[in-house]
Amino acid sequence: MKQRQKHKGFSLGLLLVLLIFIGLGLWLYTKLDSPLFEKNAPTINLKESSYWNLSRPLEVEFLDDTGLKHIEVYMGDETNNIKIAEKTFTKGEKSYTLKVEFPKIGLSNKSDIFKLTAKATDISKWNFFAGNSSQKQSILTIDSQKPDVFSLITSYGITKGGVGLAIFKAEDKNLDQLYIETNFGKKFKPTKFYKDGYYAALIAWPITEKRFWAKVVAIDKAGNKTRARLSFFLKNKKYKKSYLKARDSFINGKILDLAEDSPALTENLSPTQKLDFVNRTYRDINDKVIKEITSKVDSNLISNFDIKPFYPLKNGKVVASYGDHRFYYYKEKNNVISEAYHLGLDLASIRMDDIKITNPGVVVFANYNGIYGNTLIIYHGLGFYTLYGHCSTILVKRGDLVKAGERVARTGASGLALGDHLHISMLVQGVFVRPAEWMDSKWIQTNITDVINGAKKMIDK
Ligand SMILES: [Zn+2]
Repeated sequence: MKQRQKHKGFSLGLLLVLLIFIGLGLWLYTKLDSPLFEKNAPTINLKESSYWNLSRPLEVEFLDDTGLKHIEVYMGDETNNIKIAEKTFTKGEKSYTLKVEFPKIGLSNKSDIFKLTAKATDISKWNFFAGNSSQKQSILTIDSQKPDVFSLITSYGITKGGVGLAIFKAEDKNLDQLYIETNFGKKFKPTKFYKDGYYAALIAWPITEKRFWAKVVAIDKAGNKTRARLSFFLKNKKYKKSYLKARDSFINGKILDLAEDSPALTENLSPTQKLDFVNRTYRDINDKVIKEITSKVDSNLISNFDIKPFYPLKNGKVVASYGDHRFYYYKEKNNVISEAYHLGLDLASIRMDDIKITNPGVVVFANYNGIYGNTLIIYHGLGFYTLYGHCSTILVKRGDLVKAGERVARTGASGLALGDHLHISMLVQGVFVRPAEWMDSKWIQTNITDVINGAKKMIDK
């Protein structure tokens, strides 16, 4: 009896030990796959090459999915490599941005290029409790010099709704961004001009903007920024307001036809609402297509911008001017149902008259575009485009190079046009501008040709 009892006690103890082992095994099994033993090394956000202007501390970001234990940053030149910052964590932060200052002593100041090394370990128990570690290196360029920007020459004035030309110098050994900032949010892209370090840009003052200013902005890779104002004499211009009667024949004809281009958006609208839809919403959609196509500029260096006045129709009479603020009313003059700016010039002569081009260019669009009807857009360089709307026939296709004097299309009444005429628009980097300027040889001479030639003289001096 006694022996049996003893035996029973022994096997109970064995069972208990066995259960503890199984429990430990299960615990370890779950923990090996758990954060405590994870094998993911910390991430260090550091580019292979980086730039620093010394005006603010350099920031190095460290991340780890379970938690950081220790991070450090070294900086080195050809002979030394010194620790410039470190941090040990007690709570295992998952992300930390280490702010680094340039060391006051220990590194040579002969070169602007240094080696930056960042190291990190995490709180994982993996690697015999040492944790996972990572290391990343970067070639660091110290650059505290601002870009050099200098306005060489601009056209003397700019008219509201019109264009000015600016030629300037912008230099920096690590130049990153260069653009022209304006008070209305539009950024104009400059084109490399004539010789290294020089740029030219046509700049537009949109007709809808009361004020105008433009500044060249140059930013280098280290974040040094220079802004230089371009000076233009500002010429305000008043544009006409006109009140047009929306006749039923117009609404039931052209308007209903154009509203049918967007059946889902117009099916529940009344006839006068359809007019407003076509005149504003559809116009916006069509303008968006135009603005996108005409926003591009040359990426190559240009040495010239030789423009001749545009005379698209031989005996074209102006039937509507650029910039008219048109209000449509229905029945009573105070019942205005829609409004829009007329951002082109309407010329009329005989029906299906030949549209000729006086300046060479590349066809960038030759297609139907809503209220503009059959539309042709030609690029002439330096961000400048001409558009021909309401055509009956287009004689060229996208990608064609057109020569001066070439017949490119025939006038018509496609789109939102009552009679056969040409609607010509001119655009600078997606902004509609005054065609009158580009049809005036004196304006072109003073504001474009003389500016280009003057700049070249200054550059060659
Ligand atoms: Zn028009």
